[in-house]
Amino acid sequence: MNLQFCGAAKTVTGSCFYMDTGKLKFLVDCGSFQGTPELAQLNYEPFPFNPSELDYVFLTHGHFDHCGRLPLLIKQGFRGRIISTQPTREIARVVLLDAAGLQEEEFRRWSARPKDRGENPNYREREVREPLYTTDDVNELMTFFDVYPYGDSVDFKNGVEFRMRDAGHILGSAMFELWLENGDSRVRKIVFSGDLGQSGQRIVKDPDLVREADYVIVESTYGDRSHRNKDETLLEFLSILKDTQQHGGNVLIPSFAIERAQEVLYELNLFFENRLLTDMPVFLDSPMASETVKIFKQFPNFYDEDARRLLEKGDNPFDFPGFHETESAEDSKRLVSKRGCVIIAGSGMCNGGRIIHHLENNIENSKTSIVIVGYQVEGTLGRKLVDGEPEVYIKGRRMEVRAKVHTLGGFSAHADQNDLRYWLRGFGHTPRRVFMVHGEEQVANKFASDMKEELAVDTYVPSMFESVTLE
Ligand SMILES: [Zn+2]
Ligand SMILES: [Zn+2]
Repeated sequence: MNLQFCGAAKTVTGSCFYMDTGKLKFLVDCGSFQGTPELAQLNYEPFPFNPSELDYVFLTHGHFDHCGRLPLLIKQGFRGRIISTQPTREIARVVLLDAAGLQEEEFRRWSARPKDRGENPNYREREVREPLYTTDDVNELMTFFDVYPYGDSVDFKNGVEFRMRDAGHILGSAMFELWLENGDSRVRKIVFSGDLGQSGQRIVKDPDLVREADYVIVESTYGDRSHRNKDETLLEFLSILKDTQQHGGNVLIPSFAIERAQEVLYELNLFFENRLLTDMPVFLDSPMASETVKIFKQFPNFYDEDARRLLEKGDNPFDFPGFHETESAEDSKRLVSKRGCVIIAGSGMCNGGRIIHHLENNIENSKTSIVIVGYQVEGTLGRKLVDGEPEVYIKGRRMEVRAKVHTLGGFSAHADQNDLRYWLRGFGHTPRRVFMVHGEEQVANKFASDMKEELAVDTYVPSMFESVTLE
């Protein structure tokens, strides 16, 4: 059987793995590429497979870099089924509706004002493009989903059996164990890790361990480093909040709407409930994060024990003194006059969304703190801030970065090298080969060589669009 790496190969985004077993054809994930213009361009290229021939898509979770191109499959003739957990389906709907809405809006705006593009050279290169898909396409996509719980193995009786396990990354995230019949009826077990969570996250559980596999496809986002300890991260977060409050500045938290925003709210709730922090309004300025809070409230059975216990005590982590959610763009703009508050807004990598006008209003103020809580892809504004660039372009205007930029790795939704090593050690029988994906090239290479040495396992870092035969 053949496996082709159609995304997230020597790069982080665009997860999409195509398998042809000789009996069936399917994908694991069909996500969007994000970051540099070269990567974003890949979203417009034809798929290296025929979508109408696919039998299934196994969807690991609802992040955009895993589900972002699903509507394109339907537009190109896909008539199979999409397999996921229920929260993944709901989250993917929110994420894709947001993406479709943004594309529609951008198209309207850019077609109306083709000349006014500011002085940023990147702006000049951009062209007005038709949306890749619309909200109608996303609504149609939802009818293709079949949802399953974790832990049940499901035999389709056609040469594929699968089981979803908790990947502990975001609500409903799954790794897939797949038992596949080869053309000659031999069964091979392939495990796709999806994105693996950091151990000790607040709301979701720790990743499940898998006992055996012939082949493993594992993510490697942070395969070359360790996160700071969670307690240290929380102390640092608290001191940033107090310090900024004392100086009358704002704390801006560019945040992914899915999981990151909820995990940050969870910590803020504990700070306020335990009176470690008082009189500091918190604005969740992200309709997508607010939608996701609703999904979180819907599925408490997917929480870990601590979060469930908190709920049982009657403390709702998404409701505390001073917490506000802004809905309309006008409400968001009204926040401009606020001082001494926390603003959580998307996008998480500052490449669009409401965080842009908050950065515009606060970045040149030395009292501002910008707290980075998630992975920043190369080429994004967020990455430039993390890398300490003294000047950045915002809405085409060059601005000086006078705000303090803090990176809190302990909030990451991704496993670090220790978590990844622990997960790989969980395989009792050494897999025939482990493929490292979903990591920048140097990171994936380092992780592959470290694991080869430590675990005496055959590792490989595939290139984009490379096909391999799984014996
Ligand atoms: Zn993810
Ligand atoms: Zn991912």
